[in-house]
Amino acid sequence: MVKAIVGANWGDEGKGKITDMMAQEADIVIRFQGGANAGHTIVNDYGKFALHTLPSGVFYSHITNVIGNGVALNIPLLFGEVQSLVERGVPAPKLLVSDRAQIVMPYHILLDQYEEERLGGKSFGSTKSGIAPFYSDKYAKIGFQVSELFDEELLEEKTQRVCELKNALLEHLYHKPVIRREELLETLHSYRDMVAPYVCDVSAFLDKSLREGRTILLEGQLGTLKDPDHGIYPMVTSSSTLAAFGAIGAGLPPYEIKQIVTVCKAYSSAVGAGAFVSELFGDEAEELRRRGGDGGEYGATTGRPRRVGWFDCVASRYGCRMQGTTDVAFTVLDVLGYLDEIPVCVGYEIDGVATRDFPVTSKLSKAQPVLKTMPGWKCEIRGIRRYEDLPENCRNYIEFIEEQIGYPITMVSNGPGRDDIIYRESPLAR
Ligand code: GDP
Repeated sequence: MVKAIVGANWGDEGKGKITDMMAQEADIVIRFQGGANAGHTIVNDYGKFALHTLPSGVFYSHITNVIGNGVALNIPLLFGEVQSLVERGVPAPKLLVSDRAQIVMPYHILLDQYEEERLGGKSFGSTKSGIAPFYSDKYAKIGFQVSELFDEELLEEKTQRVCELKNALLEHLYHKPVIRREELLETLHSYRDMVAPYVCDVSAFLDKSLREGRTILLEGQLGTLKDPDHGIYPMVTSSSTLAAFGAIGAGLPPYEIKQIVTVCKAYSSAVGAGAFVSELFGDEAEELRRRGGDGGEYGATTGRPRRVGWFDCVASRYGCRMQGTTDVAFTVLDVLGYLDEIPVCVGYEIDGVATRDFPVTSKLSKAQPVLKTMPGWKCEIRGIRRYEDLPENCRNYIEFIEEQIGYPITMVSNGPGRDDIIYRESPLAR
């Protein structure tokens, strides 16, 4: 059985925590898209960790962690992350890397930086991890697949081709130092040596695992609104963030994905540029940012302050629909306990017309939030384990949002820890 854990919004919804929690009863956790450009924060018995490349199953010895073919694989970062876990007392995780995954090259990271510099104020707010240049090269068919590291003749020929192309850009567009082919070859050899023990035909492994009745978790990165097709293009990431892409980025039959857990945070946050209709500013924003997440809303990869705002029903209903949600995990609800009243964005007004449908980007930038205010519950809800024990106003908030988004909230997360979870029977459950 395959279950996907994905985000409804801009990312940072708490997918890492939900994956770590669901991994208790799974066998395999697989990353199927994205790279080291976003982070998952996980709090467990070993401490607090920010993972960028490793799947969130690495804290369990019973889990096989897989880097799927859809991932932008930064090899030195991957192994640096493994090493930092081991240094902090976590047993070395079981790890497999798809022979079809492609490799983030040092020049992808440089080109990402140079392009952001060149664009100046018009930049896309990239994390400069090389993700956009990496996926551009993948689809331009000049990327390096892990399997190719083991074909010396191919490497000789391809590095030649890549240097010609990249050096023209580096020299004439960016006026930066060029790539030396011998150095590039050496780098690729060192990558080959690092990754060799982990390389695997992942789709064959998953096929066998499914036949043996194993449970596989697909771990998404970012959220629906960062999807290149269905998100807020062009302020999006460069690989699909949707559960459907899990089938492609892991190498699984699409009909095997039986459960799609879409993670929605109880308020909104976003990193990087782009329209954010329910965004808060000033002191109200600062207070939510400071209290938010687990130790404040600051990016796990960049440390940048996240933009914060009220829960957005329009964006989240759309976010859940595009994921094909079977379950909503509603997270970070404990943070809102300080508020007397909690506004919720229930609609957008665009050129004087009210709508509940999420618009295309050109219209989104004109949208004004239509807010409805809910009473707060003014107390600490961490530690509560049964839904009935939540304060009435808190349950009303959850149920109001469930009705607005139209997908069943079956899990409520009221703290960063693995056990901070309340399971709930939803009237909307299928
Ligand atoms: P991801 O990228 O979707 O995995 O999300 P992040 O890890 O970037 O951000 C989620 C943050 O919220 C992390 O710091 C988590 O430890 C924290 N977190 C997750 N669930 C909860 C929760 O229910 N309550 C609180 N207070 N923090 C949470």
